[in-house]
Formats: sequence, structure tokens, C-alpha cells
Amino acid sequence: MAKALTVVEELCNGCRLCEMACSFLQAKEYNPSKSKIKIIKVEEIMLEDAEVAVIAYGISSRAALSAVRKARKDGVKAGLLRLITIWPFPEKHVSRIARKAKAIIVPEMNYGQLVREVERAARPTPVVLLSKLGEEPHRPSEIVEAIRRL
Ligand code: SF4
Repeated sequence: MAKALTVVEELCNGCRLCEMACSFLQAKEYNPSKSKIKIIKVEEIMLEDAEVAVIAYGISSRAALSAVRKARKDGVKAGLLRLITIWPFPEKHVSRIARKAKAIIVPEMNYGQLVREVERAARPTPVVLLSKLGEEPHRPSEIVEAIRRL
């Protein structure tokens, strides 16, 4: 008998507590990899017609949103995919966006971890890593500059 769980997108905040509860029921440990439920949660902003997509997670998302809004004001069709959860990786979302975009920018506060997953899902669309190290997050202007350079 086929069974399905449905998450109501608008009501789910991506907290993943259901994964934790399921993993405990399945394996008596709080480990999402043991869960039968997999939550993938993203927010798509101005991506319908985006030629340049920014994909961001965590603290980088705020600057990415400002950058995308600024780029739009400047006449560039930019959009943001904000990843609320990153595992399982939202491959289908990324590959759908990549089919329409001419390039993707990934701002990250490290040498590039998320970017590898994005490259794999977005192939053959070019993916640009905007890496930043240290405690200072990206400034929106840095992301806008990266969008302009494409
Ligand atoms: S992630 Fe799971 S527990 Fe959290 S709001 Fe969504 S459905 Fe509910």
C-alpha cells in the first residue's frame, strides 16, 4: 500500500523536529540520517525570470537578498534561492533554476562547500563561488559586484 506524508509548505518552518522524532522511533537516536522523513525547505525569491541566480544559506542569505534587490533596480534579472535546509540537498530546485539562468553565484563564508553541491546539480550552467573568510559576512555590494562581472 502506497503511503505518503505531505508537508504544507506555507506552514512548515523547516525546523526538522519531525525528522528527529522519526529517527528516534526508528533507531532510538536523534540522527536525521535514520529518519524516514526528509525535509527540504527553500525560499525562492524573484527567480521566475532570473538570468542570474544567487544561492545562499545562513548568514549569507541576508546580503544576497539585498544584492538581488539592488541588481533588479539596476535592470539585471537576478533572483535568490535561499536554502533553509541543506541536507538532503535540494537538487531538483537547483537544476530547475539552472536550466533558466545563465550563471549562478554562491556566496559562502568558507573556501567553498555548498558550491560543490550546487555545481553538481546545476551542470552545465556556470557556478561562481564568492568565498569570504573571517567573521565579517558578505556585504551586499560584494555580491552585486559579482553579479555585474558575469
Ligand atoms: S520541519 Fe517537520 S516538525 Fe518542523 S514545521 Fe516542518 S513538518 Fe513540522
